[in-house]
Amino acid sequence: MVKIGVLALQGAVREHVRCLEAPGVEVSIVKKVEQLEELDGLVFPGGESTTMRRLIDKYGFFEPLKAFAAQGKPVFGTCAGLILMAARIDGEDHGHLELMDMTVQRNAFGRQRESFETDLIVEGVGDDVRAVFIRAPLIQEVGQNVDVLSKFGDEIVVARQGHLLGCSFHPELTDDRRFHQYFVQMVKEAKTIAQS
Ligand code: GLN
Repeated sequence: MVKIGVLALQGAVREHVRCLEAPGVEVSIVKKVEQLEELDGLVFPGGESTTMRRLIDKYGFFEPLKAFAAQGKPVFGTCAGLILMAARIDGEDHGHLELMDMTVQRNAFGRQRESFETDLIVEGVGDDVRAVFIRAPLIQEVGQNVDVLSKFGDEIVVARQGHLLGCSFHPELTDDRRFHQYFVQMVKEAKTIAQS
């Protein structure tokens, strides 16, 4: 059994809960710092990164979230959640939690393409993954330790750095559970390693 939380300060929380629910997975909605202790993995949902950051500070989540990731526990950020994880944000002085060695550009697809859907190849997940982009960021560049798992044209949209996974789009808005299953597998593997 693994326990996975969805950070519920703001954004698309329920949809992630639904996608994570599976035999052997206990899902919780995280509203208090104390809840982090019992978790094996954590999801940062989409929403608005600046609002989420404000609430992270307001409720004392900043250091506990950094400590959570520093223990090697898997974290999965989608859209605004990806922005929270990036070390660098284009045009801003610093990132938020600065967990992953990458630079993101917010709202990168312009007004005409504020939201759109497409099918993408995502390494380890599938070659026909429906991707829903909503005022999405893209990943401009990644450090040496970061693997690019998917691109939309020339743009990086999914990346993984060990136990950290970031995605520009919203896999939780489709009925396809494969992306979440991939993350659940990361959590199971990390837990097995931690216990051995
Ligand atoms: N544009 C939002 C931001 O910059 C992210 C959008 C989303 O999560 N769907 O935080």
